[in-house]
Amino acid sequence: MRALVYKGNKKLTIEQLPIPKIKENECLIRVAYAGICGSDMLLWNGGYPRVKPPLIIGHEFSGTIVKVGTRVTSLKEDEPVVVNPLIICGKCESCVAGHHNTCDYLNLIGIDKDGGMSAYVVAKEDQITSLPDSISLAKGSFTEPLAVGVHMVRMSTLKKGETALIIGAGPVGLIAASIAKIKGATVYVSEMNPFRLKKAKSLGFNVINPKEQDVESYIQQVTSGSGVDVAFEVTGSNPGLTDCIQTVKPKGTVLIAGMASQKHSIETYKIIQKEIHITGSRVYTKTDFKEAIQLLEENLFDPTPFISRVVTLDNVILDGFESIEKGDPVLKILVDLEAEDK
Ligand SMILES: [Zn+2]
Ligand SMILES: [Zn+2]
Repeated sequence: MRALVYKGNKKLTIEQLPIPKIKENECLIRVAYAGICGSDMLLWNGGYPRVKPPLIIGHEFSGTIVKVGTRVTSLKEDEPVVVNPLIICGKCESCVAGHHNTCDYLNLIGIDKDGGMSAYVVAKEDQITSLPDSISLAKGSFTEPLAVGVHMVRMSTLKKGETALIIGAGPVGLIAASIAKIKGATVYVSEMNPFRLKKAKSLGFNVINPKEQDVESYIQQVTSGSGVDVAFEVTGSNPGLTDCIQTVKPKGTVLIAGMASQKHSIETYKIIQKEIHITGSRVYTKTDFKEAIQLLEENLFDPTPFISRVVTLDNVILDGFESIEKGDPVLKILVDLEAEDK
C-alpha cells in the first residue's frame, strides 16, 4: 500500500509499505478520505516534538472495514466507518472520571501512531463508529473536525438566543461558528484574510475585518452596548485574545481554542472587572463525536462549502501541504484514498 510518511521537519514522502496486521480487538480499514488539518501543518513544520518519525500522518478520516479482529463483536466487513483517533491511558484521574479528552497521556492516531493518509489504517473496535448510509464517506471524514467545534461550543456554555464572537475564520473557527448558529446563537466572525472573510460571509455570518474596523466598538454597537455572551479565540494571536476580553460581556465566557506560538500578554484588569470566565477546549469527548455524526446525518451541518479541494496521494504535498503553507485561498483539503491501488 502507499502512504504519506512524515520523516522529520518539512519532510513528507509517499512510500510503499506493507499492509498493517491487526490484533484481535482491532479492524483493518480501507481509507476513503482524509482531511489535512492545521495540526498536520504544525507537525510537518516540526511543531510536535513528541512525534517520532517515520509516521503515517492523518487523524481525520473515513473508510470501509476490510478485516475484523477475532474479538471484535460490534463491527463487520464492508461497513463504512469513521475513527475517533484519540488513544487514552484509561487510568489517570481524567480517564477514570470519563473526561478522556484531558487524559494525562492522550495520544492520537496520525500523530503518535500510524494514521489515515494511507490506503489502509488500523484502529481499535472502541475507536470505530459506523457511518449511516445517508452520510457519504467524503462528508464522513469531516466528523473529527466537526466534533472539535461541537466540543468548543459545549465548553463555552453558549445558549440559544445568546451572542457569540468568533475570532478567526479558518476551518475550526467556521465550524464552531456554524455549531453556535445551529444552537440558536447570533454569531459574529472577525477575520482579516480576504478569502476567509468572504467565506464567512457566504456562510451567512455577520463579519468584521479588524484591519478596517475596531472590533470592540463594532460589538458594542451590534449588541446595544452589552458585549457578547461568548467570545471564541481561534487564531492563537495576542490581538485575538485581547479582542475577546474586550468584547465579552460581564460574567461572559472567553473560550480559547487557538494554539499560540508565543506566550500571550493580556490585560487582566478587564477579567477582574467583568468577572470573565476563561476556559480552554481540547479535542472532543465521545458524546461530541456522536453529536457530530448526528449533525451530518440530520443534514444540520453540511461540510460541502468547507471542502476547497480534493487531492490524491500523488499531489498531496504540492497541492495540499505546500499550497496551504503558501496561504492559497483554501479552507479544507481532502485526500482521496479511494483512488489508491488496493
Ligand atoms: Zn484535526
Ligand atoms: Zn488517561
